[in-house]
Amino acid sequence: MTPDLMEAGARRLAAYQQRQAGMGRNTESGGRQAAYGRLRDDTGPDFAHGVALYLEDVTVSFDGFKALNALSLSVDHGELRCIIGPNGAGKTTMMDCITGKTRPDAGRIFFGSTLDLLRHTETEIAQLGIGRKFQKPTVYEALSVFENLELALRGDRRVRAVLRSRLDGAQRDRLDEVLTLIHLKDQAGRTAGLLSHGQKQWLEIGMLLVQDPKLLLLDEPVAGMTDEETERTAELFLSLEGRHSLVVVEHDMHFVDQLTQGRRKVTVLHEGGVLAEGLLAEVQGNEKVVEVYLGR
Ligand code: ADP
Ligand code: MG
Repeated sequence: MTPDLMEAGARRLAAYQQRQAGMGRNTESGGRQAAYGRLRDDTGPDFAHGVALYLEDVTVSFDGFKALNALSLSVDHGELRCIIGPNGAGKTTMMDCITGKTRPDAGRIFFGSTLDLLRHTETEIAQLGIGRKFQKPTVYEALSVFENLELALRGDRRVRAVLRSRLDGAQRDRLDEVLTLIHLKDQAGRTAGLLSHGQKQWLEIGMLLVQDPKLLLLDEPVAGMTDEETERTAELFLSLEGRHSLVVVEHDMHFVDQLTQGRRKVTVLHEGGVLAEGLLAEVQGNEKVVEVYLGR
């Protein structure tokens, strides 16, 4: 990070904070809609230098145990990056740090080349355009597929108020587009509780997509899916590459192979740091990796 970049970042942050302080007043929504609009102004993340996410020497201790130990990692704008590693390697903790759920003891995390995520709350980080998919799907089981997406699009939890108001044309188009992407177009009216496990996972991914996140974090997204669902999920993620940056944590090597197609980079985490990085075939042939992970 060069000093002029840092300075530009500080200026942006100050402008952002100023705007934020002025928000929430004189708006019917009490600021909720305003927060969504913030994604589109010039105080958001800066991807002009090609960086989507940048972690530097991030350390997290739990009672003296280092779940992350000086972790450094960089993901390009529009890249689809797979993260693998044995249980306890720190993969979920890394996502917790990026999303503001856990505060690191040391290190820095940047979204784009200038936006310092450690200065922001979990809610602000989501509003800045980082969407996270947890392992377990959390959809509104009693609502339809369409209603679930509609709620996510409005970013508002007042279910009845949202469902009574109308979508505009652009919003309708976006929901349609997402329904197609997640393979649930013909299930739009179906009660979400009746979907298969894989379909619920897709719906939850769709609920993130309608908010158009710049960066998507996906923690073991195909756990419990059938082979066919897994394959479709790989296709879905590949179709998102470029428009979004994606970080996918995954155990299923077959899925990682489908995602990387012999040309995308894989990062191997072990004991809270990067053990290896490269093409899947390269890291699978790396002795250290075989020892700690693949050879088990
Ligand atoms: P992974 O997702 O790669 O399996 P995690 O990030 O969940 O690994 O965990 C990394 C290590 O940190 C593990 O040893 C885990 O037991 C520990 N850990 C994670 N969260 C906590 C916590 N809240 N308190 C104490 N230890 C934790
Ligand atoms: Mg985990």
